[in-house]
Formats: sequence, structure tokens, C-alpha cells
Amino acid sequence: MASEVKRAFLGLGTNQGRRETVLAEAVRRLRRIEGVTVRRVSPLFETEPVGPPDQDWYLNAVVEIELAVLADELLILLKQLEKDMGRRPSQRWGPRLIDIDILWVEGETLSMPHLTVPHPQMEERAFVLVPLATLAPDMVLASGRTVVQTLAALDDPHQVIPYVRTGSIG
Ligand code: ADP
Ligand code: MG
Repeated sequence: MASEVKRAFLGLGTNQGRRETVLAEAVRRLRRIEGVTVRRVSPLFETEPVGPPDQDWYLNAVVEIELAVLADELLILLKQLEKDMGRRPSQRWGPRLIDIDILWVEGETLSMPHLTVPHPQMEERAFVLVPLATLAPDMVLASGRTVVQTLAALDDPHQVIPYVRTGSIG
């Protein structure tokens, strides 16, 4: 049963197309999903690719939502949203039009072949932690540390730079 509403965080990223427009469109589509209420959108950050280096920099954001469906139902909806926006299969960590990952869902620990929550790499990635820290600096992660504590101890050489936005998303 999924009648309970849970706080959750999604990680959004794009390195293709007009990136700011892509993220704005993704948030617009998230708002239309039944069972998802978008609460806040972080500032945007330009981030150095973590995968193969011969690809463009990403634009990343984190979105806080209230979730009234199960996390694995949400995953299906997010995969469909990515597809509808035009994402095509590509190499792991290669260029992508839009990626939406489920980072964290209140009170949930899931370990299924197709879905791990909290996201297994979220505590190692500056491109996730920096925007997340703008929304939930004191949130306690799976390690037992807060977002800011995790960020302070992080050893991720990839650059994360505030993006000077030309419009407003969310
Ligand atoms: P990436 O790992 O770079 O996000 P994809 O978006 O193609 O690449 O995701 C690959 C698979 O990761 C998805 O098909 C999904 O089943 C799985 N997955 C596992 N845990 C999660 C999660 N927390 N959020 C999103 N996808 C997840
Ligand atoms: Mg993904």
C-alpha cells in the first residue's frame, strides 16, 4: 500500500541539448505525474563528467518531492519520462539527454536488481551532494552522516560549479 506520503529526493542530470531547457522540461513533466508533488528545485550546477571524459559537462539539480506511490512504481514512471523526452539507450555513464535517479526516499531501504534506494553512489558524488546540500544540509544519509558532513569528507576530484541561470526552472 502506498497511501502514505513520503519525502523524497531525485537527482536530475543532462549533458545534451539546451541543458537548462531540458531540466526545466523534466521538472515540468515531474509535476504532471500523479503521486508526485514537486516541493523544491535546487540551484543548477555545471559538473565535470564522471564517466568517459570525451563528453560534455553536465547540468545537474536535485528535486525534493512528496511521493504517494511506491518507489518502484516511480522508477517506471521516471524511465517513461526519460524515454518520452527522447533519451536513447547509451553506454554506461555516457552522454544522455536526461537522467533522473531516485536518490533517497524517507524511511525506505530497497535492494532489488532494478532499484537500490538510497542510491548506492550518492554519498560519493559531488554532483549529487552539492545540490542536495542546498535543500537538505542536515538530512542524515545511509552512512549515518549528514549531507554536509559527507560533503566535507568527500574525496571527489570532479568539479561542480554553480550555474549562472538565464531563466528559472521549477
Ligand atoms: P545511470 O546508472 O547512469 O543512472 P541509467 O539511468 O541507465 O544509468 O540507469 C540504469 C538502471 O539503474 C535503471 O534502469 C534502473 O533500473 C537502475 N537503478 C537502480 N537503482 C536506481 C535508483 N535509485 N534510481 C534510478 N535508477 C536506478
Ligand atoms: Mg539513471
